[in-house]
Amino acid sequence: MSPTSTRRGSAKKPARLPKVKMPEMLEGAPRGETASESPQWRTYVGRWLEMSGCKVESAPRGDWEVDLSEALQKRWRRQRVRMVFDPARPTVPRGAWFMAPGSAAGRRLLEAALIEPMFTRRTALAQVPGAPADGLAKICAVRGLTWGTPRLGPVRYERRVAFHAVITRWGGLPWQEQWVVLVGTGGEVLERDPASQVPDVRPREGLYQMGEELEPELRERWLGSARVTLEELAREREKEWEVSVGRLRDDELERLGAFFSARIEEEEERQRRRSVHDEHELEHGDATQLKLEWERRAAEVRQRWEMRTEVRLWGLEEWSWPVADLEQELRSGAVHVKLKVPVDVARGLPSLPNCPTCGEPAEMLVRDRGHVACANCADR
Ligand SMILES: [Zn+2]
Repeated sequence: MSPTSTRRGSAKKPARLPKVKMPEMLEGAPRGETASESPQWRTYVGRWLEMSGCKVESAPRGDWEVDLSEALQKRWRRQRVRMVFDPARPTVPRGAWFMAPGSAAGRRLLEAALIEPMFTRRTALAQVPGAPADGLAKICAVRGLTWGTPRLGPVRYERRVAFHAVITRWGGLPWQEQWVVLVGTGGEVLERDPASQVPDVRPREGLYQMGEELEPELRERWLGSARVTLEELAREREKEWEVSVGRLRDDELERLGAFFSARIEEEEERQRRRSVHDEHELEHGDATQLKLEWERRAAEVRQRWEMRTEVRLWGLEEWSWPVADLEQELRSGAVHVKLKVPVDVARGLPSLPNCPTCGEPAEMLVRDRGHVACANCADR
Protein backbone atom coordinates (compact mmCIF):
# COMPACT_ATOMS: atom_id res chain seq x y z
CA MET A 1 0.00 0.00 0.00
CA SER A 2 1.42 3.38 -0.94
CA PRO A 3 1.88 6.08 1.72
CA THR A 4 -0.80 8.13 -0.04
CA SER A 5 -3.49 5.48 0.21
CA THR A 6 -2.59 4.80 3.84
CA ARG A 7 -3.03 8.44 4.62
CA ARG A 8 -6.29 8.59 2.75
CA GLY A 9 -7.66 5.52 4.48
CA SER A 10 -7.09 6.66 8.08
CA ALA A 11 -9.98 9.00 8.67
CA LYS A 12 -9.77 8.82 12.47
CA LYS A 13 -6.04 9.21 13.05
CA PRO A 14 -4.61 12.69 12.65
CA ALA A 15 -3.42 12.94 9.06
CA ARG A 16 0.30 13.61 8.64
CA LEU A 17 -0.24 16.66 6.51
CA PRO A 18 0.93 20.23 7.10
CA LYS A 19 -1.57 21.56 9.64
CA VAL A 20 -3.58 24.63 8.87
CA LYS A 21 -3.40 26.58 12.13
CA MET A 22 -6.86 28.06 12.63
CA PRO A 23 -9.76 28.50 10.26
CA GLU A 24 -9.56 32.32 10.58
CA MET A 25 -6.03 32.26 9.19
CA LEU A 26 -7.30 30.95 5.89
CA GLU A 27 -8.88 34.24 4.92
CA GLY A 28 -6.42 36.35 2.95
CA ALA A 29 -3.42 34.17 3.69
CA PRO A 30 -3.80 30.98 1.75
CA ARG A 31 -1.79 28.03 2.99
CA GLY A 32 -1.50 24.41 1.96
CA GLU A 33 -0.77 24.09 -1.69
CA THR A 34 -0.81 27.85 -2.22
CA ALA A 35 1.38 28.51 0.84
CA SER A 36 4.52 29.82 -0.80
CA GLU A 37 4.57 32.15 -3.71
CA SER A 38 4.09 30.31 -6.95
CA PRO A 39 6.17 31.53 -9.91
CA GLN A 40 3.40 30.52 -12.34
CA TRP A 41 1.00 32.78 -10.53
CA ARG A 42 3.34 35.75 -10.78
CA THR A 43 3.91 35.02 -14.47
CA TYR A 44 0.20 34.79 -15.05
CA VAL A 45 -0.53 38.05 -13.23
CA GLY A 46 2.25 39.83 -15.12
CA ARG A 47 1.16 38.57 -18.51
CA TRP A 48 -2.45 39.39 -17.88
CA LEU A 49 -1.65 42.92 -16.65
CA GLU A 50 0.48 43.55 -19.71
CA MET A 51 -2.12 42.17 -22.12
CA SER A 52 -4.71 44.37 -20.43
CA GLY A 53 -2.60 47.45 -21.16
CA CYS A 54 -1.07 48.03 -17.72
CA LYS A 55 2.53 49.07 -17.14
CA VAL A 56 4.37 46.89 -14.66
CA GLU A 57 7.56 48.03 -12.91
CA SER A 58 9.69 46.23 -10.34
CA ALA A 59 9.75 47.69 -6.85
CA PRO A 60 11.93 46.71 -3.87
CA ARG A 61 11.47 43.32 -2.19
CA GLY A 62 9.98 41.70 -5.26
CA ASP A 63 6.94 44.00 -5.30
CA TRP A 64 5.44 45.49 -8.42
CA GLU A 65 4.29 49.03 -9.10
CA VAL A 66 1.49 48.81 -11.63
CA ASP A 67 0.12 51.68 -13.72
CA LEU A 68 -3.36 50.46 -14.45
CA SER A 69 -5.01 50.54 -17.87
CA GLU A 70 -7.96 52.91 -18.29
CA ALA A 71 -10.49 50.11 -18.01
CA LEU A 72 -8.92 48.82 -14.82
CA GLN A 73 -8.60 52.34 -13.39
CA LYS A 74 -12.37 52.61 -13.71
CA ARG A 75 -13.02 49.14 -12.39
CA TRP A 76 -10.74 49.39 -9.38
CA ARG A 77 -11.10 53.16 -8.81
CA ARG A 78 -7.37 53.89 -8.62
CA GLN A 79 -4.61 54.79 -11.05
CA ARG A 80 -1.82 52.64 -9.78
CA VAL A 81 -1.30 49.89 -7.28
CA ARG A 82 1.61 48.31 -5.47
CA MET A 83 1.42 44.51 -5.57
CA VAL A 84 3.08 42.37 -2.93
CA PHE A 85 3.69 38.71 -3.76
CA ASP A 86 5.76 37.46 -0.84
CA PRO A 87 3.39 35.55 1.48
CA ALA A 88 5.92 35.71 4.31
CA ARG A 89 5.98 39.52 4.46
CA PRO A 90 4.75 40.53 7.94
CA THR A 91 3.35 43.90 6.83
CA VAL A 92 2.24 45.27 3.50
CA PRO A 93 2.92 48.90 2.49
CA ARG A 94 -0.01 51.26 2.93
CA GLY A 95 -2.57 50.83 0.14
CA ALA A 96 -0.68 47.90 -1.38
CA TRP A 97 -2.42 44.72 -2.48
CA PHE A 98 -1.33 41.30 -1.31
CA MET A 99 -1.40 39.30 -4.55
CA ALA A 100 -2.03 35.61 -4.00
CA PRO A 101 -4.53 33.30 -5.71
CA GLY A 102 -6.79 33.28 -2.65
CA SER A 103 -6.30 36.82 -1.34
CA ALA A 104 -8.90 39.56 -1.79
CA ALA A 105 -6.72 41.25 -4.43
CA GLY A 106 -6.04 37.94 -6.14
CA ARG A 107 -9.75 37.28 -6.42
CA ARG A 108 -10.30 40.80 -7.72
CA LEU A 109 -7.79 40.19 -10.49
CA LEU A 110 -9.24 36.79 -11.39
CA GLU A 111 -12.70 38.26 -11.60
CA ALA A 112 -11.49 41.02 -13.92
CA ALA A 113 -9.62 38.45 -16.03
CA LEU A 114 -12.80 36.49 -16.59
CA ILE A 115 -14.87 39.31 -18.07
CA GLU A 116 -14.02 39.07 -21.75
CA PRO A 117 -11.88 36.75 -23.83
CA MET A 118 -9.00 38.32 -25.69
CA PHE A 119 -8.47 37.58 -29.34
CA THR A 120 -5.16 37.47 -31.14
CA ARG A 121 -3.79 36.23 -34.44
CA ARG A 122 -0.41 34.62 -34.60
CA THR A 123 1.89 32.70 -36.84
CA ALA A 124 3.98 29.80 -35.58
CA LEU A 125 7.49 30.25 -36.93
CA ALA A 126 8.87 27.31 -38.88
CA GLN A 127 11.89 25.51 -37.49
CA VAL A 128 14.92 24.91 -39.66
CA PRO A 129 15.28 22.10 -40.44
CA GLY A 130 11.57 21.42 -40.45
CA ALA A 131 12.00 17.71 -39.64
CA PRO A 132 14.67 15.52 -38.01
CA ALA A 133 17.53 14.56 -40.35
CA ASP A 134 16.73 10.85 -40.00
CA GLY A 135 12.99 11.49 -40.49
CA LEU A 136 10.65 8.90 -39.05
CA ALA A 137 13.54 6.85 -37.65
CA LYS A 138 13.59 9.41 -34.85
CA ILE A 139 10.10 8.48 -33.60
CA CYS A 140 9.34 5.03 -35.00
CA ALA A 141 11.48 1.95 -34.31
CA VAL A 142 11.79 -0.82 -36.91
CA ARG A 143 12.72 -4.48 -36.82
CA GLY A 144 13.85 -6.40 -39.90
CA LEU A 145 13.41 -3.24 -41.99
CA THR A 146 15.50 -0.18 -42.88
CA TRP A 147 14.41 3.39 -43.40
CA GLY A 148 15.21 5.13 -46.69
CA THR A 149 16.10 8.82 -47.00
CA PRO A 150 13.30 11.14 -45.79
CA ARG A 151 11.91 13.73 -48.19
CA LEU A 152 10.18 16.77 -46.77
CA GLY A 153 7.66 18.39 -49.08
CA PRO A 154 6.90 22.13 -49.33
CA VAL A 155 5.67 23.95 -46.22
CA ARG A 156 2.05 25.07 -46.21
CA TYR A 157 0.15 26.95 -43.55
CA GLU A 158 -2.91 25.51 -41.82
CA ARG A 159 -5.34 27.31 -39.61
CA ARG A 160 -5.45 26.26 -35.97
CA VAL A 161 -7.19 27.80 -33.01
CA ALA A 162 -5.96 27.84 -29.44
CA PHE A 163 -8.52 28.20 -26.68
CA HIS A 164 -7.12 29.60 -23.45
CA ALA A 165 -9.06 28.87 -20.33
CA VAL A 166 -8.76 29.11 -16.59
CA ILE A 167 -10.25 26.47 -14.37
CA THR A 168 -11.06 28.04 -11.03
CA ARG A 169 -11.77 26.25 -7.82
CA TRP A 170 -13.84 28.27 -5.40
CA GLY A 171 -14.38 27.31 -1.81
CA GLY A 172 -11.83 26.52 0.87
CA LEU A 173 -8.59 27.55 -0.76
CA PRO A 174 -9.42 29.14 -4.08
CA TRP A 175 -7.08 28.03 -6.80
CA GLN A 176 -6.72 28.54 -10.47
CA GLU A 177 -5.09 26.72 -13.34
CA GLN A 178 -4.30 27.75 -16.87
CA TRP A 179 -5.03 25.45 -19.77
CA VAL A 180 -4.69 25.78 -23.49
CA VAL A 181 -6.44 23.55 -26.02
CA LEU A 182 -5.21 23.56 -29.61
CA VAL A 183 -7.76 22.61 -32.25
CA GLY A 184 -6.89 21.66 -35.84
CA THR A 185 -8.51 22.42 -39.17
CA GLY A 186 -11.17 19.74 -38.92
CA GLY A 187 -12.12 20.65 -35.34
CA GLU A 188 -10.02 17.82 -33.91
CA VAL A 189 -8.27 18.47 -30.59
CA LEU A 190 -4.53 18.34 -31.23
CA GLU A 191 -3.23 19.13 -27.77
CA ARG A 192 -4.24 20.17 -24.29
CA ASP A 193 -1.53 21.66 -22.15
CA PRO A 194 -1.51 22.89 -18.54
CA ALA A 195 -0.05 26.23 -19.60
CA SER A 196 -1.07 29.79 -20.35
CA GLN A 197 0.43 29.65 -23.85
CA VAL A 198 0.84 27.02 -26.54
CA PRO A 199 4.18 25.44 -25.54
CA ASP A 200 7.36 24.95 -27.58
CA VAL A 201 6.56 27.38 -30.32
CA ARG A 202 8.01 30.73 -31.39
CA PRO A 203 5.15 33.02 -32.32
CA ARG A 204 5.00 36.11 -34.50
CA GLU A 205 2.07 38.50 -34.38
CA GLY A 206 -0.32 38.38 -37.33
CA LEU A 207 -1.44 35.64 -39.68
CA TYR A 208 1.03 34.64 -42.34
CA GLN A 209 -0.25 33.32 -45.70
CA MET A 210 -3.80 33.16 -44.48
CA GLY A 211 -6.12 35.87 -45.62
CA GLU A 212 -9.71 34.69 -45.60
CA GLU A 213 -11.96 35.02 -42.63
CA LEU A 214 -13.11 32.00 -40.70
CA GLU A 215 -16.27 30.31 -41.93
CA PRO A 216 -18.98 30.51 -39.27
CA GLU A 217 -19.74 26.74 -39.34
CA LEU A 218 -16.08 25.93 -38.91
CA ARG A 219 -15.82 28.31 -36.00
CA GLU A 220 -18.85 26.66 -34.38
CA ARG A 221 -17.30 23.23 -34.79
CA TRP A 222 -14.04 24.39 -33.28
CA LEU A 223 -15.74 26.02 -30.38
CA GLY A 224 -17.81 22.88 -29.81
CA SER A 225 -14.85 20.54 -29.55
CA ALA A 226 -12.92 23.00 -27.38
CA ARG A 227 -15.90 23.27 -25.03
CA VAL A 228 -16.21 19.49 -24.68
CA THR A 229 -12.49 19.19 -23.99
CA LEU A 230 -12.51 21.97 -21.40
CA GLU A 231 -15.48 20.44 -19.59
CA GLU A 232 -13.69 17.07 -19.50
CA LEU A 233 -10.63 18.80 -18.13
CA ALA A 234 -12.62 20.54 -15.42
CA ARG A 235 -14.16 17.23 -14.34
CA GLU A 236 -10.73 15.60 -14.15
CA ARG A 237 -9.31 18.46 -12.11
CA GLU A 238 -12.33 18.48 -9.82
CA LYS A 239 -11.89 14.80 -9.01
CA GLU A 240 -8.30 15.40 -8.01
CA TRP A 241 -9.17 18.50 -6.00
CA GLU A 242 -11.94 16.69 -4.16
CA VAL A 243 -9.28 14.51 -2.58
CA SER A 244 -6.85 17.29 -1.60
CA VAL A 245 -9.52 19.74 -0.48
CA GLY A 246 -11.37 16.97 1.35
CA ARG A 247 -8.26 16.23 3.40
CA LEU A 248 -7.93 19.84 4.54
CA ARG A 249 -11.65 20.00 5.39
CA ASP A 250 -11.47 16.75 7.39
CA ASP A 251 -8.43 18.10 9.25
CA GLU A 252 -10.38 21.14 10.27
CA LEU A 253 -13.39 19.07 11.32
CA GLU A 254 -11.10 16.89 13.35
CA ARG A 255 -9.64 19.86 15.24
CA LEU A 256 -13.13 21.18 15.83
CA GLY A 257 -14.19 17.78 17.15
CA ALA A 258 -11.21 17.59 19.49
CA PHE A 259 -11.98 21.05 20.84
CA PHE A 260 -15.66 20.36 21.53
CA SER A 261 -15.09 16.86 22.92
CA ALA A 262 -12.67 18.35 25.42
CA ARG A 263 -15.10 21.09 26.40
CA ILE A 264 -17.98 18.65 26.84
CA GLU A 265 -15.77 16.43 28.96
CA GLU A 266 -14.71 19.40 31.13
CA GLU A 267 -18.31 20.44 31.54
CA GLU A 268 -19.34 16.94 32.59
CA GLU A 269 -16.40 16.74 35.00
CA ARG A 270 -17.38 20.09 36.56
CA GLN A 271 -20.96 18.89 37.03
CA ARG A 272 -19.80 15.64 38.61
CA ARG A 273 -17.68 17.52 41.16
CA ARG A 274 -20.71 19.52 42.25
CA SER A 275 -22.42 16.16 42.82
CA VAL A 276 -25.84 17.75 43.24
CA HIS A 277 -28.43 15.42 41.90
CA ASP A 278 -31.16 17.97 41.19
CA GLU A 279 -28.82 19.82 38.82
CA HIS A 280 -28.92 16.82 36.55
CA GLU A 281 -31.28 18.67 34.21
CA LEU A 282 -28.87 21.60 33.82
CA GLU A 283 -25.90 19.32 33.21
CA HIS A 284 -27.81 17.63 30.46
CA GLY A 285 -28.75 21.05 29.07
CA ASP A 286 -25.16 22.34 28.95
CA ALA A 287 -23.84 19.29 27.17
CA THR A 288 -26.68 19.58 24.69
CA GLN A 289 -25.85 23.25 24.08
CA LEU A 290 -22.26 22.36 23.36
CA LYS A 291 -23.26 19.56 21.03
CA LEU A 292 -25.59 21.88 19.12
CA GLU A 293 -22.85 24.49 18.85
CA TRP A 294 -20.45 21.82 17.61
CA GLU A 295 -22.92 20.75 14.93
CA ARG A 296 -23.49 24.34 13.85
CA ARG A 297 -19.76 25.02 13.57
CA ALA A 298 -19.15 21.77 11.69
CA ALA A 299 -21.86 22.69 9.20
CA GLU A 300 -20.14 26.05 8.70
CA VAL A 301 -16.83 24.35 8.05
CA ARG A 302 -18.42 21.99 5.53
CA GLN A 303 -20.06 24.90 3.77
CA ARG A 304 -16.87 26.93 3.64
CA TRP A 305 -14.98 24.03 2.06
CA GLU A 306 -17.72 23.20 -0.41
CA MET A 307 -16.11 23.14 -3.81
CA ARG A 308 -17.30 24.78 -6.96
CA THR A 309 -15.39 24.51 -10.20
CA GLU A 310 -15.69 27.02 -12.97
CA VAL A 311 -14.24 27.01 -16.47
CA ARG A 312 -13.87 30.31 -18.25
CA LEU A 313 -12.48 30.99 -21.65
CA TRP A 314 -10.26 34.06 -21.50
CA GLY A 315 -8.49 34.02 -24.81
CA LEU A 316 -8.76 32.84 -28.39
CA GLU A 317 -5.80 32.64 -30.68
CA GLU A 318 -6.06 32.02 -34.35
CA TRP A 319 -2.86 30.47 -35.61
CA SER A 320 -1.28 30.09 -38.98
CA TRP A 321 0.68 26.87 -38.49
CA PRO A 322 3.42 25.52 -40.79
CA VAL A 323 2.97 21.91 -41.83
CA ALA A 324 4.54 19.74 -44.51
CA ASP A 325 4.38 16.13 -45.65
CA LEU A 326 7.27 13.81 -45.09
CA GLU A 327 7.77 10.78 -47.31
CA GLN A 328 10.06 7.97 -46.37
CA GLU A 329 10.48 4.43 -47.63
CA LEU A 330 10.76 1.26 -45.55
CA ARG A 331 12.75 -1.50 -47.16
CA SER A 332 13.54 -5.11 -46.62
CA GLY A 333 14.64 -7.18 -49.58
CA ALA A 334 11.85 -7.04 -52.11
CA VAL A 335 9.51 -5.22 -49.73
CA HIS A 336 9.31 -1.48 -50.39
CA VAL A 337 6.66 0.53 -48.58
CA LYS A 338 6.37 4.27 -48.88
CA LEU A 339 5.01 6.08 -45.82
CA LYS A 340 3.72 9.62 -45.76
CA VAL A 341 3.04 11.60 -42.60
CA PRO A 342 2.28 15.23 -41.77
CA VAL A 343 5.01 17.16 -39.97
CA ASP A 344 4.52 19.94 -37.43
CA VAL A 345 7.17 22.22 -38.89
CA ALA A 346 6.89 24.71 -36.01
CA ARG A 347 8.36 22.05 -33.74
CA GLY A 348 10.17 19.99 -36.38
CA LEU A 349 8.10 17.03 -35.30
CA PRO A 350 6.60 14.37 -37.61
CA SER A 351 3.40 12.52 -36.62
CA LEU A 352 3.63 8.78 -36.02
CA PRO A 353 3.29 6.81 -39.26
CA ASN A 354 0.19 4.69 -39.71
CA CYS A 355 0.68 0.95 -39.78
CA PRO A 356 0.30 -0.17 -43.45
CA THR A 357 -1.70 -3.21 -42.30
CA CYS A 358 -4.19 -1.87 -39.72
CA GLY A 359 -3.89 1.89 -40.26
CA GLU A 360 -3.29 2.74 -36.59
CA PRO A 361 -0.46 5.08 -35.56
CA ALA A 362 2.58 2.93 -34.81
CA GLU A 363 5.65 3.49 -32.62
CA MET A 364 7.25 0.38 -34.04
CA LEU A 365 7.02 -1.35 -37.41
CA VAL A 366 8.21 -4.87 -38.15
CA ARG A 367 8.48 -7.21 -41.09
CA ASP A 368 5.74 -9.78 -40.88
CA ARG A 369 5.44 -12.53 -43.55
CA GLY A 370 6.38 -10.27 -46.44
CA HIS A 371 4.35 -7.31 -45.14
CA VAL A 372 5.04 -4.32 -42.92
CA ALA A 373 3.01 -4.35 -39.72
CA CYS A 374 2.90 -2.80 -36.26
CA ALA A 375 3.59 -4.85 -33.14
CA ASN A 376 -0.17 -5.40 -32.63
CA CYS A 377 -0.76 -6.74 -36.14
CA ALA A 378 2.36 -8.95 -36.08
CA ASP A 379 1.22 -10.63 -32.83
CA ARG A 380 -1.96 -11.91 -34.39
ZN1 LIG B 1 -1.04 -2.61 -37.43
